[in-house]
Amino acid sequence: MMLALVPLMLYQTTSCGANETNEENTADDQTKEAIVITPATPGIGIGRVMPVAEEPNGITVCIDPGHGFMDGGTGDGVLPDGLLEKDITMAIARKLSEDLTMLGYTTIITHDGVNPPPDAVYDSIFNAYERAAYANSITMDYFVSIHVNSSQNTSAEGSRIYYYDSSNKTKKIGGDVAEQLVKAIEKNLPDDPDPMLYDQSLDPYNAFILCNQVNYPSSLVEVGFCTNPNDAKKMVNDAWQEKFAQSLADGIDAYFTEYAE
Ligand SMILES: [Zn+2]
Repeated sequence: MMLALVPLMLYQTTSCGANETNEENTADDQTKEAIVITPATPGIGIGRVMPVAEEPNGITVCIDPGHGFMDGGTGDGVLPDGLLEKDITMAIARKLSEDLTMLGYTTIITHDGVNPPPDAVYDSIFNAYERAAYANSITMDYFVSIHVNSSQNTSAEGSRIYYYDSSNKTKKIGGDVAEQLVKAIEKNLPDDPDPMLYDQSLDPYNAFILCNQVNYPSSLVEVGFCTNPNDAKKMVNDAWQEKFAQSLADGIDAYFTEYAE
């Protein structure tokens, strides 16, 4: 299957991501003072360092489960069983962490959904600026933020992988990893709609903060559309979550073992 590089805004979609970008991520925001967040003790709350691999490969991946705490994200009334975006993102983030640990990676999850970051600007919401600031305060090789999409168009379906290729070497790696994520999803979930790949540097004013303000190679993954009945049913299914998480792990591993210089 050919990788599809799709122009932005093929049709109107609304998502958690849109909230994080369209209104907040203006040119003015790009220049505002950086937020400094001190990581808490590993193992609690923000910046949980997950169990160490038996044979660490020296590569650290930071996994950000989108939303959490008082911020449920999207999905209210459309995801089965009263689940919300934050439940899906946390489930997949934990599975991805386990999968990567098995492969030798060190993983850090940005939050556990229970203990709000102590220095967060808002009491119970760890917003995109705070997450980017947190990511930039630690050392890692790759950052991935996991989300669930929504759209007024209920036929919109499948996963979307976003990156920001500013032709800066570090940022470009995020795009290279993203390409491997797409290939792995296509291989492991062949019956699913083809994932779509977006380079947000083509539309910088609408780019996700977590793609363009994290100073490490980064991608943002929208797992599927809560507003599409097929996607919604899959996303709450444990076996599907396992396959999707494994696909992300396989894609990350493909980049770092086969393509990294
Ligand atoms: Zn989201």
